[in-house]
Amino acid sequence: MDDLWDIICVGAGSAGLPLAIQAAARNAKILQLEADSRVGGTLYWSSGQISAAGSRLQREHGIADSPDEHYADAQRIAHDTIDPVVLRLFVDNAAGLLDWLMDLGFKPAPGTPVAGEAHEPYRTRRYQWGTQAAVSILDVLRPVHEALVKEGKIDLRLGHRMRKLTTDLNGAVNGVEVEAPGGKVMTFRGRNVVLATGGYACSPDVWAELTPQYPLCSYANPYSRGDGILAARDLGARVDGSEKYLNTFAGVLDRPDDPRSGTFLLLSPNKRSVWEIFIDAAGKRFMREDHPSIDYRERALLRQPGTAMTVLYDEGIRQNAPALFVMPPADVGTRFGNHRNYLVADTLEDLARQLDVSPATLRETVEAYNQAVRSGNDPAFGRHFLIREIATAPFYAVRAQGITVVSPAGVAVDSDLRVLRGDGQPIPNLYAAGEVLGFTRNSGSAFVGGLSLTPALTFGKLLGERLLRW
Ligand SMILES: Cc1cc2nc3c(=O)[nH]c(=O)nc-3n(C[C@H](O)[C@H](O)[C@H](O)COP(=O)(O)OP(=O)(O)OC[C@H]3O[C@@H](n4cnc5c(N)ncnc54)[C@H](O)[C@@H]3O)c2cc1C
Repeated sequence: MDDLWDIICVGAGSAGLPLAIQAAARNAKILQLEADSRVGGTLYWSSGQISAAGSRLQREHGIADSPDEHYADAQRIAHDTIDPVVLRLFVDNAAGLLDWLMDLGFKPAPGTPVAGEAHEPYRTRRYQWGTQAAVSILDVLRPVHEALVKEGKIDLRLGHRMRKLTTDLNGAVNGVEVEAPGGKVMTFRGRNVVLATGGYACSPDVWAELTPQYPLCSYANPYSRGDGILAARDLGARVDGSEKYLNTFAGVLDRPDDPRSGTFLLLSPNKRSVWEIFIDAAGKRFMREDHPSIDYRERALLRQPGTAMTVLYDEGIRQNAPALFVMPPADVGTRFGNHRNYLVADTLEDLARQLDVSPATLRETVEAYNQAVRSGNDPAFGRHFLIREIATAPFYAVRAQGITVVSPAGVAVDSDLRVLRGDGQPIPNLYAAGEVLGFTRNSGSAFVGGLSLTPALTFGKLLGERLLRW
């Protein structure tokens, strides 16, 4: 290949789309490589909840806010575990991202911004989303991107999977090697290469290598395979963050041997009262099931070996409680008794045997809980929602576990988003944006509202604007 590109952007998802748009608008010669047959990446999957402080939207709502307050609030929720350099860069530029999206036509859903939704709330209202989850964001980015591709300002190659980065004799990145459709291997040369390849929540192998402490149970984009992280690591990039992993509460593997087949259970007490009890590997309750803090619930599950728990209930609860599963009731019905993770029995003793816990312990656990229901007082955990005893056969058990939509580890970067080596020095010409940084670098050891998708979009946009200093 004779062409020398100003920017080679690997990935055309949440970070890659704004990057290419902004770079092309400034007349950079940009090549965008995308493994999938379409652009959008995780925008097709994500809930699209984004946060920003000091935005035009907040001012329209009379909300006083600032990047400093966003910074302090995010670190409060994350127990001071977010990378300070990355967070600073993010909070200072997030409002610019939201204003830009709104200029392009993004419409926040009625009722937003709010302080919190699925995660621990912020102290102020800086959190919003579109009516079609993250597709509302894609819907405003894609037409602009498409027009630039048509004009020839972005050279977009779909179905091109980066295999590795190439370097010159001094170790400076000077291009990428890709596998093109049909398996052809090609090399492209660039002055700057940006990794916008997302995370690795859909690669059991990469997960086992980078996050061996926790089993994988994910619901994520199948193209989140960790390619960018591994390619940077091959050049000596520092890859870390798994020690800050926090699971989401909670899921079930639909195909027990496929860790990418996670489905969610509806166990969030602010959306559905929790009628069931949760038991540990010994057959005992281990947490207050209806605790209002999602952070409490996620950490209680994280402490269980293998982040595993069993959700236990009876026929009375099955008939009276709102749906526990996202899948249709008919599909749920076919799983009980025929699936390793969905158990049913006529007696608690039989259920205990299937769960491999002591029948006496399980009986005691259920008896103590039923007594709490009768007295309206749960001395063990202080649960408030005590609506119904677990007493009517058949009895049901769902083997659940922590689920994830993101991956914790990723490459270290500096305040210019240059990828750093283990010794803290930047790898020349190599940049990164999005989940390739590792979810925990952006959000720490907690789920801070919007702190995965918004940094991806914001850092992509920033690189598109700033990689043009030549
Ligand atoms: C179900 C779900 C809900 C979520 N909800 C939220 C939320 O509400 N708020 C929030 O902040 N975060 C949320 N997230 C996380 C957030 O959406 C992601 O972290 C973010 O979108 C990742 O952006 P990205 O650009 O890094 O990756 P992506 O958007 O996945 O883009 C990466 C692109 O790179 C391509 N690619 C990968 N490897 C290669 C390769 N070797 N060569 C070429 N191309 C490659 C991929 O195909 C993809 O198109 C959610 C995630 C999921 C799955």
